[in-house]
Parts: sequence; C-alpha cells; structure tokens
Amino acid sequence: MISLEDKVAVVTGSAQGLGNGIAEKLASLNAHVILSDINSERLEIAVSELKEKEYSVDSFVANVANRDEAKNLIQNSIETQGKLDILVNNAGINRDAMIHKMSPEQWDSVIEVNLTGVFNCLQPAANHMKDRESGRIINISSASWQGNIGQGNYAAAKAGVVGLSKTTSRELAKFNVTCNAICPGFIETDMTRGIPDKVWDKMVSKIPMGRAGKPEDVANYIAFLASDQASYVTGEVINVGGGFIL
Ligand code: NAD
Repeated sequence: MISLEDKVAVVTGSAQGLGNGIAEKLASLNAHVILSDINSERLEIAVSELKEKEYSVDSFVANVANRDEAKNLIQNSIETQGKLDILVNNAGINRDAMIHKMSPEQWDSVIEVNLTGVFNCLQPAANHMKDRESGRIINISSASWQGNIGQGNYAAAKAGVVGLSKTTSRELAKFNVTCNAICPGFIETDMTRGIPDKVWDKMVSKIPMGRAGKPEDVANYIAFLASDQASYVTGEVINVGGGFIL
C-alpha cells in the first residue's frame, strides 16, 4: 500500500482535469498538496471540494510561464510547509494548427507554458531537493511528443519535456532526487472534451483498451512514482494510455 504521509507536494495546473485528479490522489494518500493554477476562480472551487473531503490541501495562484510567479509558488510552498518532496509539472495548453498555418502566438504560447513553464518550476524545486538529498519530480509530457499532425508546437514542447526530464534525472540521481516523464495517451478532460464526436471516436478506435483514459488512470501511476517505492526509478518516459501509441 502506498503512503505519502508527511510528504509535501505541488501540482501545477490542478484546478481541473488531470492535475486535479493527481492532486486528489496524492492527498488521498495523506500528502499535503498545494494545488496551483492560473485560473484562480476554478482553483478555489477545486480546493474547497478537496477540503470538504477533509484532505490536507492549500492553493496558490500562479502562471507557470511567468518565471517570478513559478519561483514564488515553489518558494512559498517550501517556506510554509518547511520542505517540498514532490513536484508534478502538469500545467499545459494546446493551440493546435498545421505547421503551415501556425501563428507565432500559437507557437510561442505553447512553448512558454508547456516547456518553459516546466523549467520555471523545476529549477527552484530541484535546487531545494538537491540540498535536501531527497525528492521526486514528475513532468507531464504526452504521447504526442513523438509527433502528431496539427500539434507541431505541442509535440515540440512535450519532446522538450522528455529531454529536460532525462537531463534532470542524470544531474540529480546522486542526490537521491528522481525525475520521470509521464506520457498520457488520450484522457477525458476539458482539453479533449471539446473535440468533435467523429475525431473522438477515431481517437478511441486507436486505443487497444477501447476507451479514453480517466485522470485517475494517470494519477495512480504518479502516486507510485511519488512514493518511496519508486526510489530506484529515474529518467524514464512512461506511457499511460491503455496501449495507445502515436
Ligand atoms: P485541462 O485543460 O483540463 O487542464 C489544464 C489546467 O492547466 C487548467 O486548469 C488550466 O487553467 C491550467 N493552466 C493552463 N495554463 C496555465 C499556466 N500558464 N499556468 C498555470 N496553470 C495553467 O488539461 P488536461 O487534459 O488536464 O491536461 C493536463 C496536462 O496533461 C497538460 O500538460 C496536457 O498537455 C497533458 N496531457 C493531456 C492529455 C489529454 O488527453 N487530456 C494527453 C496527454 C497529455
């Protein structure tokens, strides 16, 4: 049985979707979880819902693409809780377009949130974990990192997350800090719910397990990676997608 008793975790982009499922899972295993998001209203609702379940949670509004806000999120968590054990870099957006039609704004915004945003949180957390010689960093990449039509910006950012995760794992292994990348397949969240039924059915038809994933399918694996039981797992790129591979 996994326990995260006495662990402090930060989950970015956790006002809804996958991040919210991850935050709830970690809290259910007795971690103290700081939920963070750019959407303050949605974040307050999410935190209230978890408090109603008597989980130990706090909120911190931050745009991960803003270096100072990301740094404040990590520093504030360390100052108020005395330490940070687990960082889940989950915040992400998509602005899909074929490469020949992609606007500079579509490119820049996805790289800034999905790649630079991960670095902005990871760096101050990694420095703290290195000093403490203990920590878990889990970065949410995507099955799309290997290339997906209409997602040149998203795939580039998510491939960047894989490279950043592997480098971090090598640099911090001797300090007992692990870093892994999770690549969800097709998960039912607000990010995917808006897509047309026809595209939805086509995506699901490509999943050997015959269904879209749920946030808890991914959260369960992250709970393991965050736990003491995964102390010898680092630098891995793990698909969680019911067998889905692009
Ligand atoms: P979602 O849109 O439902 O939730 C994303 C959350 O991130 C939102 O609460 C949003 O407000 C927040 N966010 C966006 N920009 C932010 C910023 N700059 N700073 C802080 N928070 C910000 O999406 P989701 O499906 O839950 O996706 C979560 C992560 O999983 C993303 O990194 C996404 O790329 C990845 N992912 C999702 C799927 C899927 O099928 N849903 C598949 C692979 C990977």
